Amino acid sequence: MKIDPVNILKDHSLKHTRQRVRVLEEIAMDAVAISQPELEKKLGKEIDRVTLYRILNTYEDKGILHRVMDLNGTANYAICSPACSEHHHHDEHVHFNCTNCQKIYCLDVLIPAIKMPKGFKASAINTMAYGICEKCSAGMKAD
Ligand SMILES: [Zn+2]
Ligand SMILES: [Zn+2]
Repeated sequence: MKIDPVNILKDHSLKHTRQRVRVLEEIAMDAVAISQPELEKKLGKEIDRVTLYRILNTYEDKGILHRVMDLNGTANYAICSPACSEHHHHDEHVHFNCTNCQKIYCLDVLIPAIKMPKGFKASAINTMAYGICEKCSAGMKAD
């Protein structure tokens, strides 16, 4: 998926600052979700923690990013696909947490509609699969 940070900011009527663009660039760099500590490490010299935190919150509110908690309870961020923001759902696809490399993948697998009991209104549903990712299982076979 090709990401144009400046366009994304424009689409969500956010002013584009250098720092906001940098955060999007870092998150879009890889197909896997990036953890908050990893982001802090990569952007620490340019953006202080408080600002980074604020930017991530804004992006989450706007539906630009979605947050996924991994096995260790660390926040990871991934860019929402255009389909994702169209439906105003933040987590309608399955996530995969590799227990070997710890990476989180956004899978192109939709969560089927889940019927809630009467009186319950779900605003988000989080489905996480755990196991060995494609890359790690390929590496294991080679050994
Ligand atoms: Zn893996
Ligand atoms: Zn995702």
